[in-house]
Amino acid sequence: MIEVCHLCKSFGELRAVEDVSFRAGAGESFALLGPNGSGKSTTLKCLVGLMRPTSGQLLINLPEGRKEIGEARELLSYLPQRVVFQENLTVQEILEFYRRLRKLPAGRIEQVLERFSLNFNGLADRPIRELSGGMTQRLGIAVALLPGAPVLILDEPTTSLDPEGTIQFRQFINSLKKEGKTIIFSTHVLSDVEAMADQVAVLVGGRLVAAESVATLREEFMNSSRICLVLLNPEERFIRVALDAGARDARLADRRLIVLAAPQERLPILRALEATGAMIERFSTEEPSLEEIYLRYINEKNPPTSVGGNGGMRRPSGTS
Ligand code: ADP
Ligand code: MG
Repeated sequence: MIEVCHLCKSFGELRAVEDVSFRAGAGESFALLGPNGSGKSTTLKCLVGLMRPTSGQLLINLPEGRKEIGEARELLSYLPQRVVFQENLTVQEILEFYRRLRKLPAGRIEQVLERFSLNFNGLADRPIRELSGGMTQRLGIAVALLPGAPVLILDEPTTSLDPEGTIQFRQFINSLKKEGKTIIFSTHVLSDVEAMADQVAVLVGGRLVAAESVATLREEFMNSSRICLVLLNPEERFIRVALDAGARDARLADRRLIVLAAPQERLPILRALEATGAMIERFSTEEPSLEEIYLRYINEKNPPTSVGGNGGMRRPSGTS
């Protein structure tokens, strides 16, 4: 439904977003994952028209055909990274203001608050300045949901939500997806991606380093998951055996032989080790967490400048 094609945005010399392309379909939740300064907010601001791209195209697919997003902005709802409301207005007044602005029917506020169990715990009549960060964020979310737009663009929606708010928010996202909405959100939190996204684009330094399904991303890295074998007879020669049997890397740490191997290589490695006399007391497989995956992407794009080797197991280049 939404297509970002070769988006670039520069601020003077700074290339904040460089050649970013992705698409997000209806009923799909798309995450832009990246550290601070990687260009997430800039990408989203270009999408909603708060910034003009330096180059690239932003398209939306509608029943009547493909259009520039600028011609269909009313179909987008946006939650900025930093939600700011007029301090002296009350929660109710803010909601009322946005309801009128969007020309929505009178019952819409109650409908949205109820539908998404957005409870302001008796704070509806309190001015904004008395709200906590989490409550202000909740209000921002309510405002974004008010128009019932088919496309939601949410910039770091879970920052400053309390744990309960985060759980609730994840539930909304899932129910919005069921309604067929397109959700594009940014985050630097991997658990958000795992809990809410179908697709993920990893942005580092304004460039897309990966864009795939969350399942594929994990699977790709599963290929470099580790097996940890505890040996009764730890001997250096088993490193060679593991490597010859297909391991990408192997090292010995006390009684533990740590082997990096793709899933289909694991059994042959275990067999080869046993056949050459390794006495395996127990073994476990360690799958990389998304955290690790994400850090690896960052390291790949910004390799450590210090001399002296990379010291760790790296994803082999040349995949995907
Ligand atoms: P993120 O949301 O991933 O943290 P941003 O999109 O906010 O990243 O910023 C990307 C880069 O662009 C950063 O280096 C930031 O300092 C810079 N930047 C963002 N907005 C502006 C602006 N209005 N003027 C100049 N530089 C900006
Ligand atoms: Mg940002």
